[in-house]
Amino acid sequence: MSTTDKPAAPAANAPSYPDQVTGMWLLARALGKVGITDMYGLVGIPVTDFSYLAQEQGIRFVGFRHEQQAGMAAATHGYLTGKPGVLLTVSSLGFLNGLTATANATVNCYPMIQISGSSEREPIDLGQGNYEALDQLAIARPLVKAAYRVNRAEDIPTAVVRAYRAAVSGRPGGVYLDVTTPCLGQILDRTVAESLLYDPVDLQPAMPPSPEAVTRAMQLIAGARRPALLIGKGAAFARVEAELKELVDKTGIPYLPMSMAKGVLPDDGPLSALACRSTIMQQADVVVLVGARLNWLLSRGHGKWSDTVRFVQLDIDPVEIDCNRPIAAPVVGDLKSTLDAMLAALPGYTMSIDPAWTAALQQQTRQKNAKFAQRLADNASAVPMNHWSALTAIKPVLESNPDVILVNEGANTLDDTRDAVNMSLPRHRIDCATWAIMGMGMGSAIGAAIATGKTVVAVEGDSAFGFSGMDFSTICRFRLPVTVVILNNGGIYNGIGVNLAKNGDPAPTTLDINARYDKLGEAFGADTYYVTTPQQLADALKASIASRRPTLIDVQLAADAGKESGHIGYLNPESLQHIIV
Ligand code: ADP
Ligand code: MG
Repeated sequence: MSTTDKPAAPAANAPSYPDQVTGMWLLARALGKVGITDMYGLVGIPVTDFSYLAQEQGIRFVGFRHEQQAGMAAATHGYLTGKPGVLLTVSSLGFLNGLTATANATVNCYPMIQISGSSEREPIDLGQGNYEALDQLAIARPLVKAAYRVNRAEDIPTAVVRAYRAAVSGRPGGVYLDVTTPCLGQILDRTVAESLLYDPVDLQPAMPPSPEAVTRAMQLIAGARRPALLIGKGAAFARVEAELKELVDKTGIPYLPMSMAKGVLPDDGPLSALACRSTIMQQADVVVLVGARLNWLLSRGHGKWSDTVRFVQLDIDPVEIDCNRPIAAPVVGDLKSTLDAMLAALPGYTMSIDPAWTAALQQQTRQKNAKFAQRLADNASAVPMNHWSALTAIKPVLESNPDVILVNEGANTLDDTRDAVNMSLPRHRIDCATWAIMGMGMGSAIGAAIATGKTVVAVEGDSAFGFSGMDFSTICRFRLPVTVVILNNGGIYNGIGVNLAKNGDPAPTTLDINARYDKLGEAFGADTYYVTTPQQLADALKASIASRRPTLIDVQLAADAGKESGHIGYLNPESLQHIIV
């Protein structure tokens, strides 16, 4: 609108407040009614006014620079609180940008609801070329756990409750809720609108397992000579740390956490078999999967596993059972009910664990820890730094601040940080998870800070940071206690890629070894550090955690620090062999 334009006169059909309200008013109220307190998103047509109304009604609105990151925040919020995180997007491109995160949430069993405005139906359905026309519901449906469209304002409270239940019931996931522009703008009498709101009963019902399934599992566990618990992020989500501790204390079964389950039970506890993954895969006779899937991260139950291992699987989703390997004792139910039932049954059983099994795992753990400590010490004074030298600084600072939530993504930065930093509290590690994606960093850090109020440290590879870097500004605008540590080795995997065309362009993997990411932080008013030694890094990290101010620490690594991960080396041509270590 130019400065000479007059504001448009109110449309003839504008609601006459306070006696009349709109669909978007009802949407904000319906979300509040089911306990939604925070919303992440990026506004524009047709949801801007809705975001104002939501804010007015006490829902915190965290505005992002990119919808994908707002979605990562909503997903992390859902994972950490057990209630759906909410993402708000505009139609067409904003919807699509956000959908990436909703799909990722579905794969990871994070409860979230993406609410997107959409254009009016009729011209979309006839392909008439309307503003931002896209059949969003049809596109979302195959990628999410459930997808609904609400066309009439009267249906909004029902739609919100259905979306909520779909996100958290059974196996949690991402839900898409499409709200058309006419529905958002529909006028209702306030008394009618208020009468439509209701308190849903038991939004997250318990789903206890069958007693037969519990008995079958207990018999198998009790007879095991070399058992192990394999704890997944389903257990972290289900908040069963107390029940699992009791089970481990009473049975003496060693445990191995998946990446995001680190800290459900302490990584450095006496029965932690964190360093014994391959031994467990090869030698355990009974493995109890506790909210963990036998997916690619566990060789889908094949390959590295012994042929004779028998599985107990505790999971809420019956369709997960037998999906890769036969499961000898499936226990389908929510983990809280399942573990309560197992603990109640426990006095009726005597365990048969071979003490040599536990002793061997503990011995192996000591050896591996010593080797690991040596590796860190060997790299402590390397300048320019590599990932291990950076971690000699990061590890002790994070381990002495156990209540800090660690967000972690990258290639070497992910693998090495996960291996180096022990976690001692549940739900304090958020990472690339099941899809092993890049581009979850800033969003997840923001979601974690908003959902918990805790201090967050995001340890990021330089490439990983690039996917979400602009939303560092969101951390600054909301003055969140988030420190972003960028391990800059100048590229994807490392910064020494070679351009085989020799035409002066960078190699496909090469980024900027000399980039000063700290200057980016400066632009948005963060505290910033540029560090070149482990000591400087340790000092900066300690100071930033203590300050609880937005901070960006640019860590200068050597360009040759890090190697390509997961490459199909045997297929690579000779010309690549010298750059793939
Ligand atoms: P990880 O990657 O840590 O192995 P996954 O995401 O692969 O974890 O697996 C988590 C599993 O936990 C899923 O199969 C999911 O169905 C299950 N799950 C999620 N919430 C619950 C719950 N409340 N009770 C039982 N199982 C759950
Ligand atoms: Mg890198």
